[in-house]
Amino acid sequence: MKGRMMQVPLLTSDILKSALSRYPRQEIVSRTNEGNIHRYQYADMYRRSCQLANVLERLGVQSGERVATLAWNNYRHLELYYAISGFGAVVHTLNARLFAEQLQYIINHAEDAYIFVDAPFVPLLEEVREQIPSVKGFIINCDQHNMPSTSLSPCYCYETLLAQETDEFAWPALEASTASGLCYTSGTTGNPKGVIYDHHSSVLHAMMSGSSQYLDFNEWSVVMPVVPMYHVCAWGVPFSAPLYGAKLVLPGPQMDGQSLQELIEQESVDKAYGVPTVWLGLHNYLEQSGKRIDSLKLVGVGGAASPRTLVKLYAELYDVYWMGIWGMTETSPLATAAIPSPQLERLDAEQRYDLQATAGRAMFGVEIEIFDADDKPVIHDGTSRGNLRVKGPWVLSSYFKGEGDDSFSDGWFDTGDVAVINAQGYLKIVDRSKDVIKSGGEWISSVDLENAALNYAPVNEACVIGVRHLKWDERPIMLVTLKPGKSYVEGELREVLADRVAKWWMPDAVIVVDDLPHTGTGKLRKVELRQDYADHLIEST
Ligand code: ADP
Repeated sequence: MKGRMMQVPLLTSDILKSALSRYPRQEIVSRTNEGNIHRYQYADMYRRSCQLANVLERLGVQSGERVATLAWNNYRHLELYYAISGFGAVVHTLNARLFAEQLQYIINHAEDAYIFVDAPFVPLLEEVREQIPSVKGFIINCDQHNMPSTSLSPCYCYETLLAQETDEFAWPALEASTASGLCYTSGTTGNPKGVIYDHHSSVLHAMMSGSSQYLDFNEWSVVMPVVPMYHVCAWGVPFSAPLYGAKLVLPGPQMDGQSLQELIEQESVDKAYGVPTVWLGLHNYLEQSGKRIDSLKLVGVGGAASPRTLVKLYAELYDVYWMGIWGMTETSPLATAAIPSPQLERLDAEQRYDLQATAGRAMFGVEIEIFDADDKPVIHDGTSRGNLRVKGPWVLSSYFKGEGDDSFSDGWFDTGDVAVINAQGYLKIVDRSKDVIKSGGEWISSVDLENAALNYAPVNEACVIGVRHLKWDERPIMLVTLKPGKSYVEGELREVLADRVAKWWMPDAVIVVDDLPHTGTGKLRKVELRQDYADHLIEST
């Protein structure tokens, strides 16, 4: 027997309408590309999103067409999220840190019809203009006064277009399964693949992730996504914050420690989200400047493993709760988190930090499981590792244009991460399957080694990769960058490691480098390093 309830689709335009009716005076604060602070309210966002939807209509955008953005975290980008998806087109967020060839590949693959671009990224598009024939026009996200001179054509000014339109728009009644967003994986293996979100998945993700079971947003919250809006929708915060009426602080192009501290203090930010390197940068700035972040109560940290040393520093120096998070482009992205809980509070501090540094437990709606090479589930004992698979209503069912089909089996999506899960359900990523180091047939976790190295104070960042070895096939080597002005002795680092990892995990070489390469989303670019150092141990023997 079927139920007899209304099948009402959940749409991103419903979040926009709700923000207008429930929280019209709640603030959105942005740092603009010009460096000044812009403030307005949800009612203004609604009005301008209507104007923008009228612009899309005038430009002749068709439903289902991809309309790209290449922009920082700011209010215009937020309007684009709502206007494009609410209109029935697909907002395709282009990653601003990509190289020209990757950008060109992605724009062509997506067949973008228009690109809305922040002025600083105009040169990037000029480089590829001749090779992206699907693009009918460019809109520069600024006012007439700040329009750069450009060879892009046809080219329009965002504010000029908006000013010509009325601030009323009848948001169409779309089907819940209508595509709403498109984001490409960073393509650490092979070409980037497209993940297409729909209205249903985006709204469900916002409802669950913003709830008290996860990010815990409400009208008192002041939230700052430091994770870029061009990568996995800034973890969905541009949808979940308006849904729960939180004040939104958008840091624009300046995501360095000093700029973040200023915004946290000025706007009384209490929750902020980003990859570990962002919080390392903030900590380094606070240490050197003596400045404070008194309003900040929680940082949500994902995209890479949480260094336990930082979890402890944030607790003990700043009284900030570090909440480990796991997710990926393919999971919208939020899936698990080490949320504060009475059980965690009862633990002694060191045990609590251990759990905060994991990726936490799956939120309602998301199922996670680890499997061995024979596809059998692995025991949840906190040490047995397996390939992590995930399912849920905001996990992709296939990639755009049917690529990467080998990632799906029996209703699960195979994440490519290697993980352990403990008896309480806490997930810990120990490696990406392609980063795993296999020495004489035994696994070594690069993530654990990197974390152990951060306990030696002079180390700023550590990166462990497996390289060829004549006897053991592969052995780990460690690359480190150092904090300025601290004296470093390799023997001391090795002592710190020896206290924390098995003897046979000790890296065969430790190399101090000036800089480590990162992807546009703050992950170490290990593929490149593995190539550069492939024969390092063979050459030195
Ligand atoms: P990509 O496009 O490279 O897959 P994503 O931003 O989607 O980039 O990154 C997802 C990946 O980031 C995960 O598959 C995992 O390897 C890594 N990651 C995310 N959160 C964590 C975490 N808490 N601990 C360790 N690794 C993580």
